[in-house]
Formats: sequence, structure tokens, C-alpha cells
Amino acid sequence: MSDWVLITGGSRGIGAATAQRCAAAGWDVAINYAQDSAAAEALAAGLHASGRRVLTLQADVADAAQVSAMFERLDAAGGRLAGLVNNAGIVAPAMRLHEMTLERWRRLLDVNVVGTLLCCQQAARRMSTARGGQGGAIVNLSSRAAEYGSAGIYVDYAATKGAVDTLTRGLGRELISEGIRVNGVRPGIIETDIHANSGMDASGASSTIPIQRLGRPEEIAEAIVWLLSDAASYTVGTMLDVAGGR
Ligand code: NAP
Repeated sequence: MSDWVLITGGSRGIGAATAQRCAAAGWDVAINYAQDSAAAEALAAGLHASGRRVLTLQADVADAAQVSAMFERLDAAGGRLAGLVNNAGIVAPAMRLHEMTLERWRRLLDVNVVGTLLCCQQAARRMSTARGGQGGAIVNLSSRAAEYGSAGIYVDYAATKGAVDTLTRGLGRELISEGIRVNGVRPGIIETDIHANSGMDASGASSTIPIQRLGRPEEIAEAIVWLLSDAASYTVGTMLDVAGGR
């Protein structure tokens, strides 16, 4: 039996690529998703061939009770939780500040920031060497938007990712004394469904990126799996930009 990694939003996009890469690296993989059970089950079916244990776990990461129940279902499966990837994240339709609503801001903050906090808290309770755990690694998905600010399209989304950066630096310093390494990855513009869901056509952005193309989910997964691994044993509280020079 190997160690579990839990990937929130692991059913599609960057999360799904990370689940595949983690299984190949020898992790047992728990795939969280919010709604699209068909995507989660299809991914899991493919991963069974890796010989690793695979679990699909429905939960809205913004909901404390659902997050708690998700970690308990993982506990019940047996084995050690050694990795957490806080990948679940949303954007909202592109618009300027004056059009945005309070409801939109609350949902972005709840999923992208509170969801990350809730999952870090649950994972840390299990991993902490101060609480009988054996340590672990956490990787938070931020965005290059945290630095650019996404003016005119979604400054609110960018602000939630700025919060993820700060949280990652702080928790990195707080939890390393308990054997938990916390780091983050800041993707540039990656080929996933997230852009269509915000009404944006990302394909035209290639010319604005020094490498002259969008990134692939697998290219982000490589960075995440490295940060989870012992190869990154001295990397703590760091944000790794994987953005084609953007
Ligand atoms: P995506 O293709 O839209 O996939 C999102 C995943 O998150 C899905 O598995 C979705 O599950 C899940 N999810 C959404 N809301 C959730 C919730 N409340 N609780 C649990 N799961 C939830 O996204 P992506 O492009 O791969 O992005 C992954 C992460 O990278 C996000 O944090 C995003 O902000 C960040 N990022 C992406 C880009 C990019 O260009 N793609 C750039 C920078 C940063 P369902 O299908 O069940 O809803």
C-alpha cells in the first residue's frame, strides 16, 4: 500500500493531468470533484490500470461539512495521506469592476481561498508530526494572475490567487516545523475548459506569451508532482511560476 495524494478538482484539466502523473509516480490517488461525476469516474477507470488505488470523492471545497466528510471517507479507505493538491478553482465571466456582484465575489473567495484553507486544515491535522502524523506535502494552485491583476476581466479572481500566494508563504513557514512542506504553482494560460467557462477565448493569447503558445495541463502537473516529491525536500513556502515566460 502506498501513500495517498488528494487532488481537489482532480477530475478535469490541470487536476486530471496531475492525477495521472501522480499515479505514474506511485501515489494512490484520491480525486475530488464538485459536480461532474462522469468525468471523475472516467478518469478513475483509466487510472486503475496503473495498479494504484483510486478513489473519487464528491465535495464542494467551499463547504466545511462536505470537506470534513471527504477527508473522513479517505481515512476510511486506510493508509496515510501524504500529499494534498489544492487545485479546485473557479473564475467568473469576464467583466469590469462596476458590473461585478457581491454574490460573485463571495463565491470566488469561498471556493478559491476558503476551500484551500479548509483542505489545508484537514490535511495538516492528519499529516502533522506534532499530532502523531508522519508529515507530508501540500501544493496550492495559484496563478500568474496574482501578479498581473487581470485588469478589465477578473480582478476579483486575481485577488483570490494573491491570497493563495500569501497563504502558501505563511503556511510554508508555519507547518514546516510539523513536517509539512507547503508550496504553490502559478500557471500561466493553460489549455483547459476554465477559459470557456469564463466566456474567454484563450487561443488568441499565444502572441502575448514569450514562448508563443499556451501551456498544457501536463506541464503544470510536472511541477506539482516535483513539489510533492522528496526531490523538493528543501523547497518551502515557494511559488513556482510555470508560465512560458509570461
Ligand atoms: P478546470 O478545467 O475548470 O477544472 C476545474 C476542476 O475543479 C474540476 O475538476 C471541477 O469539478 C473542480 N471544481 C470546481 N469547483 C469546485 C468546488 N467548489 N469544489 C470541488 N471541486 C471544484 O480548471 P483548470 O483550468 O484545470 O484549473 C485548475 C486550477 O489551476 C484552478 O485553481 C485555476 O484557478 C488554476 N489556474 C488555471 C489556469 C489555466 O489557464 N487553466 C491558469 C492559472 C491558474 P467539476 O467538473 O465537478 O465541477
